[in-house]
Amino acid sequence: MLSTLWDAIVIGAGPAGSLAARELAGQGLQVLLLDRAEFPRRKVCGCCLNGLALGTLNSVGLGQLVHDAGGVPLQQFRLAVQGRQSALPLPLGAALSREKFDLRLIEAAQQKGVAFVPKTKAQLGQLGEGFREVQTEAGIYRTKTVIVADGLNSQIANQEDNRTIIQAKSRIGAGTLIKNYPRFYEKGTIYMATGRQGYVGLVCLEDGRLDVAAAFDPVYIKQVGGLGVAAQQILARAGFPTINHLEDQNWKGTPPLTRSASKIAGERWFAIGDATGYVEPFTGEGMAWALASAVAVVPLVGGEWHSEKIEQWQRIHRQRIRSRQGICRLISWMLKSQGLSRLGMSLVTYAPKLIHPLVSRLNRPNPLPTLQG
Ligand SMILES: Cc1cc2nc3c(=O)[nH]c(=O)nc-3n(C[C@H](O)[C@H](O)[C@H](O)COP(=O)(O)OP(=O)(O)OC[C@H]3O[C@@H](n4cnc5c(N)ncnc54)[C@H](O)[C@@H]3O)c2cc1C
Repeated sequence: MLSTLWDAIVIGAGPAGSLAARELAGQGLQVLLLDRAEFPRRKVCGCCLNGLALGTLNSVGLGQLVHDAGGVPLQQFRLAVQGRQSALPLPLGAALSREKFDLRLIEAAQQKGVAFVPKTKAQLGQLGEGFREVQTEAGIYRTKTVIVADGLNSQIANQEDNRTIIQAKSRIGAGTLIKNYPRFYEKGTIYMATGRQGYVGLVCLEDGRLDVAAAFDPVYIKQVGGLGVAAQQILARAGFPTINHLEDQNWKGTPPLTRSASKIAGERWFAIGDATGYVEPFTGEGMAWALASAVAVVPLVGGEWHSEKIEQWQRIHRQRIRSRQGICRLISWMLKSQGLSRLGMSLVTYAPKLIHPLVSRLNRPNPLPTLQG
């Protein structure tokens, strides 16, 4: 392992890591992609790719990937709050299971020459003369640059002078996949049931399963005694049909969702995707940010290493990714207030034209990245 000096090693083969690995290999770099999981793997996610995500894939020549994998085009967003429902048309979007999406992205990276090793837990190692080590149970690798794309619970939180700020009262994520469910839930629509203690999003996947993804107040989960019970209660109160035996499904939870890292780059490493921080997923932008950051980091990798690249990545990331997260922080804050969420509901119902610019903004593709940001 020590005999090879990789141009880049990417830790984590979610959307951020796989796309970054592919793009780097496309620049002629020798790239190793590591993930602790075996693929295809399940992941708590709403599985909805918005216009920004699809636009980024398109910009790198992967415009057909979602369609070819059977992705279901999304036409409508249906919101339910306290027994009232309303619908908004969606300009763009597709639903695709994470098993399929993530696997297809890894395959796309391999086609560009990326070496992929699953079932390998990795972490940033020591800094050496002209390289950085990456430690795995099987041994140590050497690379000129590490891309840390290990998701929400990222190891960069443990880097010496880093601080991961987890927002007070942050919600936790949860998800399950259902085979039998009421016919009410149809392909092409995102269903979103919101309550004061959280929200539950539902979407039909390419293989007919219903993806259920939620964000809950942790205190509420303790009160009601489980993720499935909480989801069932929020569906019932919001006015969507409940799902038989939802409580007994194989639920998976996540750590608190809303967080940000004080440092997203260091000597010979850059963090991308959820590893840099995250905002509650109501607007389903996480994969879009992950893909956008994967493309944006590419110009900084390769060539001679110099420490100014650390500051450059902080700046590019702030301009391209964090600025877009602001609007999601605002929506998530509004939803926690009963009064404001009622106001939002009235706007969706009676003045949908006022909401359209917001939907378009969330779907707007990023301009192409440059080193100047
Ligand atoms: C409830 C919920 C609903 C959501 N709904 C949507 C939605 O509808 N649309 C949307 O766009 N986004 C949604 N998201 C967000 C989306 O899931 C994430 O933003 C996205 O997965 C981030 O991609 P990533 O590549 O950064 O991280 P991940 O997809 O988390 O990938 C990280 C990878 O790193 C691997 N890994 C972790 N640690 C190590 C290690 N030490 N060594 C090696 N490998 C490691 C993991 O196995 C994993 O494969 C939702 C999130 C939640 C919680």
